[in-house]
Amino acid sequence: MSQAKPRIAVHKFASCDGCQLALLNAGEALVELAQLADIAHFAEGGWYAPGEPVDIALVEGSISAPEDAERIRAVRASARYLVTLGACATAGGVQALRNGLARAADWLGEVYASPEFIRSLPDSLPVAAYVPVDLEIHGCPVSTEQVLEAVGDLLRGAVPAPGADPVCTQCKRRNLACVLVNGGQPCLGPVTRSGCGALCPAVGRACYGCYGPAGLVNAAALARRFEALGLGGEDIAGRFLFITPAAEPFRSIGQGYRERGDG
Ligand code: SF4
Ligand code: SF4
Repeated sequence: MSQAKPRIAVHKFASCDGCQLALLNAGEALVELAQLADIAHFAEGGWYAPGEPVDIALVEGSISAPEDAERIRAVRASARYLVTLGACATAGGVQALRNGLARAADWLGEVYASPEFIRSLPDSLPVAAYVPVDLEIHGCPVSTEQVLEAVGDLLRGAVPAPGADPVCTQCKRRNLACVLVNGGQPCLGPVTRSGCGALCPAVGRACYGCYGPAGLVNAAALARRFEALGLGGEDIAGRFLFITPAAEPFRSIGQGYRERGDG
């Protein structure tokens, strides 16, 4: 990190702004952060200087339009550390549902009154598909605490190693009843990265997979478990392709069940 007060930028690409809001919701911690570092650019928070060189660039959103591809290269060139925030930036986001679908071009005409003004790439891809990324923080939205901890580590000169345990580990730590074993719900927790605190199982609901694939998990076996619960191919595909549809192995498993097409 440079000798002068470190500088931070927050950039938005194709996204809903939820991850930026998670940072804005930090409240007093954001004020403390602004004392430790200069916030050079964070349009949603009132700072606007997108071209400024910084120590840490936090990036929300996927690369979805031709100008995004140019802009992310400029962001990469201007930052010592580039950190991606959330399912859009790390896995393409819900907008990646269009990836590989011939119907995507037709959707433009159905959704927009003047589709000729829309310029988008065929696929919505994670930032890492275009430029090197130093750290990915998962979630939809990200956890405020995880972002602040990661920024704190980077300000001290250390790149944190992201955890890859599945949500089930958090369920066990919280002593929650399992909605898959006890309730027969198709829970994605066994193959989803932890970080939300098992938010959905805590209210008796199956995990939706917001944090994307955990490490070293057998997602194909879980899909077969969903079949045993009576789910059809399209239903299983919809679960794996829901929030992080471009992340492996969710992408290939979901596409496989979609091509099978039953249910
Ligand atoms: S990851 Fe989720 S909360 Fe964050 S910008 Fe994308 S859609 Fe919004
Ligand atoms: S409820 Fe879901 S996340 Fe929790 S232990 Fe059961 S399968 Fe795992």
